[in-house]
Amino acid sequence: MNSLVPAGGTSLLIDGKLVPGGSGVFATINPATEEEIGTAANASADDMDAAIAAARAAFDGTEWSRDHAFRAHCLRQLRDAMRAHSEELREITVAEVGAPVMLTSGPQLEGPVTDLTFAADLAESYSWETDLGTAEQMGITSRRVIRREAVGVVGAITPWNFPHQINLAKLGPALAAGNTVVLKPAPDTPWCAAALGSLIIEHTDIPAGVINIVTSDDHALGARLTEDPRVDMITFTGSTQTGRSVMASAAATLKRTFLELGGKSAAVVLDDADIGTAVGFTAFSVAVHAGQGCALTTRLLVPRAAYDDAVAAAAKTLSGLRAGDPTDPGTICGPLISARQRDRVERYIEIARAEGGQIVTGGGRPADRERGYFVEPTLITGLPNTSPVAQEEIFGPVLVVIPHDGDADAIRLANESPYGLSGSVWGTDPERIERVVAGVRTGTLGVNGGLWYHADAPFGGYKQSGIGREMGVAGFEEYLETKLVASPA
Ligand code: NAD
Repeated sequence: MNSLVPAGGTSLLIDGKLVPGGSGVFATINPATEEEIGTAANASADDMDAAIAAARAAFDGTEWSRDHAFRAHCLRQLRDAMRAHSEELREITVAEVGAPVMLTSGPQLEGPVTDLTFAADLAESYSWETDLGTAEQMGITSRRVIRREAVGVVGAITPWNFPHQINLAKLGPALAAGNTVVLKPAPDTPWCAAALGSLIIEHTDIPAGVINIVTSDDHALGARLTEDPRVDMITFTGSTQTGRSVMASAAATLKRTFLELGGKSAAVVLDDADIGTAVGFTAFSVAVHAGQGCALTTRLLVPRAAYDDAVAAAAKTLSGLRAGDPTDPGTICGPLISARQRDRVERYIEIARAEGGQIVTGGGRPADRERGYFVEPTLITGLPNTSPVAQEEIFGPVLVVIPHDGDADAIRLANESPYGLSGSVWGTDPERIERVVAGVRTGTLGVNGGLWYHADAPFGGYKQSGIGREMGVAGFEEYLETKLVASPA
């Protein structure tokens, strides 16, 4: 039995106590087997209300926001507790998320735990005050000091695809900056968040109310967080559609909203690139975690003259990557999170067929898997960049290949999207690469396989992919207010 998931199911964390949910429990499903593997506490509206009250009281009534060294100490305790329980966390992550176990030594678990070090160090090393010196206005000379302070109570709303990465990329900097937090994780992955609750209680000095974790199968509890006037800021990761609701609902109380949303990123392959490497890398990456990554390059833009070769190379890579058991260390493409998500992916494949596209490989459920929400890695060709499968986020292991007519056309196609999250460029000539880097409107870009993901690297979107940046110093400063204090000099 996993000590982080008690037999009666996981608990909520509210005001420093592990408590049952006011609405009972809800089932946790293993997406690779479709089996109910246990339950999580199902919070009621009253539970959410109590969590917000606790976070408000902890922010207003304790020294948490002013004691930088103590916060760094607490974050290191949380990191160490997660490391000490990494095998149990790994088991939960593979079972609940369907995450290939291979990825838990990276971004699905160990990477984000290590990234807590960056947040803890920042709490200690950050320049909380800047002396602006003196200035004279209307005969009064004043010394001015800029102070950076925590925003207050932060509502964190997260999705299911990389739960530890996203929960910790919000909790780490929000807490390091001195805020208190109410975390509302996705209904599909309550255990990853609830496990944090029990580790916090048992292994850290984090004061009561500083972190509250409210699991629920009801999206409406997320909406309550966005509406409540006691919450100062919402940090949200999820779909662009939900992001719009969050922003609209937060507007009533003019909350700061920090949004990490969807993507439909392009891999731009120039005609002097090594086509085999560029296409192989891109095709491989869309199958990782069954394509459930917001920043994956799911549109492959290749020179028209190299189109047939590129399609053949992509088909070879994707047909060699079978969707399989996430507990197998060789698997990179596991299941989709739910039947609903599989329906969504299959619907897009049907749209592609109906519009005259070719399904070059994949396109269905793997024949060797009787249960589980699996879809084969799929390659779609023969459709323009304006088609729904090239414009809308599918969030499955599906790659669309589109020909371009030169560098300018490739940049135009990459930008012909409501999204602007990420992308890649492949080529040889540095000047041509630079023109693409400057021309593509996205928050991150990889050049010739360069990886942008790291604790100190800001990540986020242009256009309808979001507002603000997560990770790095920029991600920490999202959680800060600026106060200017002037005194007579
Ligand atoms: P989702 O938008 O359906 O849900 C995200 C979270 O919002 C969940 O916790 C959900 O309960 C909550 N929620 C739903 N309705 C709400 C409302 N009206 N008010 C407040 N909260 C509400 O997203 P998902 O299906 O869980 O995750 C997949 C999406 O997340 C994809 O679009 C993906 O691109 C995006 N994503 C973005 C990033 C990024 O950093 N940009 C990272 C990972 C995932």
